[in-house]
Amino acid sequence: MTTPLQPTFDGLDLSMATLDNLKQLGYLTMTPIQAASLPEALKGSDLIAKAQTGSGKTAAFALALLARLNPRWFAVQAMVLCPTRELADQVTTEIRRLARAADNIKVVTLCGGIALRGQRASLEHGAHIVVGTPGRVMDHLARGYLNLDNLNTLVLDEADRMLDMGFFEDIATVIKQVPKERQTLLFSATYPEGINKLATQFMNSPVSIEVKQQDVQGSIEQRFYEVTRESRIPVVAQMLNHYRPVSTLAFCNTKQQCKHVVSYLQAQGFHALALYGELEQRERDQVLAQFANRSCSVLVATDVASRGLDISQLEAVINVDISPDPEVHVHRVGRTGRAGEAGLALSLASMNEMGSVGKIEQYQSLSSVWDKVEDLSTAGNGPLLPPMVTLQILGGRKEKIRPGDVLGALTGAEGGVAYSRDQIGKIQVTEFCTFVAVVRDIATAACAKLNAGKIKGKNVKVRVMQAE
Ligand code: AMP
Repeated sequence: MTTPLQPTFDGLDLSMATLDNLKQLGYLTMTPIQAASLPEALKGSDLIAKAQTGSGKTAAFALALLARLNPRWFAVQAMVLCPTRELADQVTTEIRRLARAADNIKVVTLCGGIALRGQRASLEHGAHIVVGTPGRVMDHLARGYLNLDNLNTLVLDEADRMLDMGFFEDIATVIKQVPKERQTLLFSATYPEGINKLATQFMNSPVSIEVKQQDVQGSIEQRFYEVTRESRIPVVAQMLNHYRPVSTLAFCNTKQQCKHVVSYLQAQGFHALALYGELEQRERDQVLAQFANRSCSVLVATDVASRGLDISQLEAVINVDISPDPEVHVHRVGRTGRAGEAGLALSLASMNEMGSVGKIEQYQSLSSVWDKVEDLSTAGNGPLLPPMVTLQILGGRKEKIRPGDVLGALTGAEGGVAYSRDQIGKIQVTEFCTFVAVVRDIATAACAKLNAGKIKGKNVKVRVMQAE
């Protein structure tokens, strides 16, 4: 498959430091949504952009709001409203990565489920950018903790989901407290009724940006397999053994099916975890941390639970069940092959799902490629093991642990072997605990080293997490 030539960031009105930082991050060319929206956004126009997770939309608005920001002025100059805490956390992380080029830019996340007090303190220390959910932002405004008088950029991210969740009134209340003279950038995967209402009430002659679905999905290989009721779940295991993707997101239409698939895969020795509604936030955080840091091979999820999930390297998507809604199918498949990387989308369909496959073909104007289950190799390749293992440290932001502290404890000479940076993966600090990924063969020893040593001058409890 040929990769279309993509424009670079160099032609944009961005500082040299920003351009260098983008190169360091490996953002060499713009994604289609970035190429379409950044020139307009940097001019200061309001935008309505049709984009989904994985398209690079966060950088599209983040670069625009960072370009207008004055780091020496301690006032909230930009705000991003998001539907969920997870998305807000992802957006905050991406903004921080992109903001590395400039002086100390402070980004504060304001979401529910977390004590107001800490958030208030962060605001008092001076925030340039606020990322939050509408309810919690409203709360801070009502209590007078948050002042938006100097806001110049407002972003509504995943606006369709915010409307789905009934946030229209909250958004309206918040917008009434920000200056009229501002830039508003709205991003949405779909355009339900309410989007137009938001645009007419709160936006100023917005420019519409839409990138063709094909552009986003150009590098995704889709294959279909015919299965029966009985063979469906075993075929999932066969596919994993055959293609051996490091990270796979497997979609099921129901929570019940997720549970069946996960218990089957786990019994077969796969490192698989389930993600569905009703998981407690803490369980959900643990599952996501393990999947994102590559210590869980397969995440089996329902559509609702997986919305907003941002996993940058996803080698494969498996549709364990075909979605009856072709738009949902396209969103699922679009999770792999992000930002131009090659991706694999495998779909299992039984005879009674052929109607849904037909709808998908029509919707995508593609004819589906069918492969035979018999052609999936059964050769004994050994179990599919994820490259990393997660260690959970019982201590997090509350204990003021930072990723550097954990890295220091692992790479330091005290307590035996000093590990090298490349044996250590993602380090994620959450409110109460920290997840650190290490390469599989050092997991037990690294856990012992952390248990024996100190982090921030204190002893910590650490355990190896098993994604199986
Ligand atoms: P998003 O759609 O904002 O959730 O972004 C999807 C992923 O693509 C994120 O992990 C980004 O770090 C990554 N990304 C965004 N823009 C680029 C780019 N121009 N080149 C490479 N990766 C990118």
